Amino acid sequence: MEKRTSQPLTLYFLIRTSELLGALIYVQLLPMWMPLTWFLLMAATDTWGAWRVTRPDFKTLAPERRKSIYRQCVWQSTAAVGSSAYLLYVPGNYAAHALLGTFLMCSAVIVAMWGVRDVQRTAVAVALILLPSGIRMIAEGVVVGHWGIPLLAAAGLGLGVMIVYTTKLYADRLAKELALRERAERASEAMAQVSLSKSRFFAAVSHDLRQPVHAIGLYLDPLVRALATHQDPSVHRAIDGIRHSWRALDDLLSQVLDLTRLDAGTMEACNEPVDLAMVIRSLVLQHSVSAERAGVRIIALVKPDQWVWADELMLKRILSNLLDNAIKYSVHGQKVVVAVRWAADQWRIQVRDAGPGIPEAAQASIFEEFVQVGNDARDRQHGYGLGLAIARRFAGLMGGSLHVRSRPGHGCCMSLSLRGVPVPVAKPATASRGLLGLESGDSVVSIEPIPSLGFTSVLFVEDDPLVADAMIQLLEGWGLQVRHVETAAEAMVQSSFGEVAICDVRLPNGASGVELGGMLRNTGKQVILISGETGAEVAAAAAASNLALLSKPVSAEKLSQALQALDRDVASV
Ligand code: ADP
Repeated sequence: MEKRTSQPLTLYFLIRTSELLGALIYVQLLPMWMPLTWFLLMAATDTWGAWRVTRPDFKTLAPERRKSIYRQCVWQSTAAVGSSAYLLYVPGNYAAHALLGTFLMCSAVIVAMWGVRDVQRTAVAVALILLPSGIRMIAEGVVVGHWGIPLLAAAGLGLGVMIVYTTKLYADRLAKELALRERAERASEAMAQVSLSKSRFFAAVSHDLRQPVHAIGLYLDPLVRALATHQDPSVHRAIDGIRHSWRALDDLLSQVLDLTRLDAGTMEACNEPVDLAMVIRSLVLQHSVSAERAGVRIIALVKPDQWVWADELMLKRILSNLLDNAIKYSVHGQKVVVAVRWAADQWRIQVRDAGPGIPEAAQASIFEEFVQVGNDARDRQHGYGLGLAIARRFAGLMGGSLHVRSRPGHGCCMSLSLRGVPVPVAKPATASRGLLGLESGDSVVSIEPIPSLGFTSVLFVEDDPLVADAMIQLLEGWGLQVRHVETAAEAMVQSSFGEVAICDVRLPNGASGVELGGMLRNTGKQVILISGETGAEVAAAAAASNLALLSKPVSAEKLSQALQALDRDVASV
């Protein structure tokens, strides 16, 4: 059998005891049946009410029905309290009137507290409690000509009115607060909706946007090669301009797409033990050219055996951004220091510079998207204000944090904190993810030497004519024989052609390039997938099938590196 809801029994007996004591006082002033009847009436109504609301099935009733039962209980109790005007009224006895008045006022206050959101009913309940005895006391005072009694009653009734008025004020305030909260909730829902639409919009356009950027990158290599010997300097200037614009477009697109993936929650950190010394050494090397150009010296204070729990690609992206900024904001002759410190159970990687620093008021906002300090003209040379926003979110995904400390005029110190891990016995294979060249900094257009590849023919699967044409021109420029098909079915028909297959991931008729890649590999081919998708699923699927994956836009350099890596894999088998 279901249990009855537990009652506050102690409170129940406490109330009954006080009522009994009250009744005993009045027994001496009135005929015994009157206080006794009052006591029984009070106990009966309260017990009946308590029994109704603690029944096991009470909680299963509809909210409206439950509310109505509560109201009935209150009406019964207030009517019982109001009956005191007859049953506990001692004519001509001030002390008894004062006691009765106090009891009635307390009851009225309790009812007002209970019914604060329902002022009309509260007013009726308070009237039920106070009016009968008030009227009686006024009547008696007038009849016996004793004005003290009507004054006492008038004061009691006035207090009753005040209770209702205060209740109303309080109820109004509550209603206002509730309306404000509802408005805030609606606004935040609308904001969330806008943000979701924004993410969806970027996710939707990202694929289409990547195609032409990807194609421009591929067309650039043959163009640069063809015009390398051109005499006219304006041609070289134009080519340089196109290179820089492509690079800027590629950077911005990659950063916006990263943000889209972060917003959509599709990006996850693949944490593993990472050797800080190795990462920092390679980054310092990578930034040495730009540092030298700016006349800045990079000093790395890092010891071996400092390992963190991190996603190596994300860690490199964060530190690369911090180094970029530190070099960018330093002046000729200054130093940039990369230091690693142990704090609690974390390694704190600090990138310090002696540049202009960041005003205190702006230190929190630099981690927001598109925020740049002192670049109101939005000069693209200074970046887009996205680097730190992405870096902080990457740090969060890895379970770490990114903070800034800076005194304007005295440089800036960016600290990335990541959980430290013991030095592993054998270093895990970092290429396990099957991702190649995620770093936007890799995609530099330059006159690359024609790659020397250990194969001569490529089966190329791509349905976008613009991208296909650019890729064919590039591959043929490298002396490769290319057979181009548009669909997965055509690719399988032509599967005997080529030692290597390059497949777009999204193919016509809903076919998956990852699946096709797996099938082509089974025919003995080496496979590279190229994807414009922003989700983590594609990367995970490619990694699961152990296929190399390049993210669009892909530069000639990136592609050549990936093809040469295939060569090495073949050689090492
Ligand atoms: P950006 O690509 O514009 O550098 P970031 O998100 O990396 O974007 O940085 C945001 C802003 O933070 C910068 O525009 C700059 O005002 C400020 N900032 C970042 N690093 C430094 C630094 N080392 N010294 C001074 N200001 C910095």
